[in-house]
Amino acid sequence: MPSVYCESCGFKSEIKKGKPMPKKCQYCDSKGTVKPVKTAQDLLDEVSRLK
Ligand SMILES: [Zn+2]
Repeated sequence: MPSVYCESCGFKSEIKKGKPMPKKCQYCDSKGTVKPVKTAQDLLDEVSRLK
C-alpha cells in the first residue's frame, strides 16, 4: 500500500494506487508538505547513489 506522510506534522496516511499525491495535509492543513514515505528500497537506492 503506498503511503504518504506530512513533513510538517508527521501525519501518515495511505493513498490508493493510481491516486495523485494529496496537495495538502489533511491533519495540519499545510500545503506541499505531503511526501511519499521512504521504503527500505528507496533508502538502499540513496545509499547506492552516494558511491
Ligand atoms: Zn501535516
